Amino acid sequence: MAVEPGLSGAPASYALRAGNGELDLNVRLGQRLTLEWTGAIACTHCGRPTRKSFAQGYCYPCFKTLAQCDTCIVKPELCHFFEGTCREPEWGERHCFQPHVIYLANSSGLKVGITRRTQVPTRWLDQGAIQALPILEVDTRQQAGFVEVLFKEQVADRTNWRAMLKGEVDRLDLRAERDRLLDQLASGLSNLRERFGEEAIRTLDAPPVELNYPVHEFPRKIVSHNFDKRRDVAGILMGIKGQYLLFDTGVINLRKFTGYEVMVS
Ligand SMILES: [Zn+2]
Repeated sequence: MAVEPGLSGAPASYALRAGNGELDLNVRLGQRLTLEWTGAIACTHCGRPTRKSFAQGYCYPCFKTLAQCDTCIVKPELCHFFEGTCREPEWGERHCFQPHVIYLANSSGLKVGITRRTQVPTRWLDQGAIQALPILEVDTRQQAGFVEVLFKEQVADRTNWRAMLKGEVDRLDLRAERDRLLDQLASGLSNLRERFGEEAIRTLDAPPVELNYPVHEFPRKIVSHNFDKRRDVAGILMGIKGQYLLFDTGVINLRKFTGYEVMVS
């Protein structure tokens, strides 16, 4: 599912990638929508058919050999590039040795996260955040990992997806949260600056970003659809938030089923 931020306060626009085209989902709000999995899964990297999807969309050989499926992508502080053991050093150079942003977001409450600079604001929309604020910038993914580990002493790095989907999220003053955290973590940050260089961790002064989603009605109770248990998912489309479609019959996390061949009607 592709997502674009809405302009000046408008809800994000969602589309399903279908073959070479895209199916606009926002216009389907309030209408009946049926998704039916054909039983086929194609690896999102090599395209080969796979019976099971690994790491949300890969075949087993890709899952075991691609750098993007390695543990250090989820835990960048474990980057092992300099030990000469990166699974794909060229891919690592392109993706991990480029500016990364450490941000605060409000998806189901305050959280910290990191992302490549080029993934802003897509990353926030994928998480269903209603507010986000970039706070620091570093030059590598590993450095971002170390900064995130430090912030995790004080703030969550996960989203409570049920609360996010119910829309039960109070607004936060992210600038005030940033100032509080930078203050509390000042000595940890200065240790990292000593290690990587004074200029390695730069404070950003960007404005907070507000994000809106096309939702007619939030579910009061969360029931999950799952193609692995039932091939057809149908209902009135009530909303879209993060990577979830919200039907009147339950919700489905489409990210989880990346690579699944689905018929839409
Ligand atoms: Zn593959």
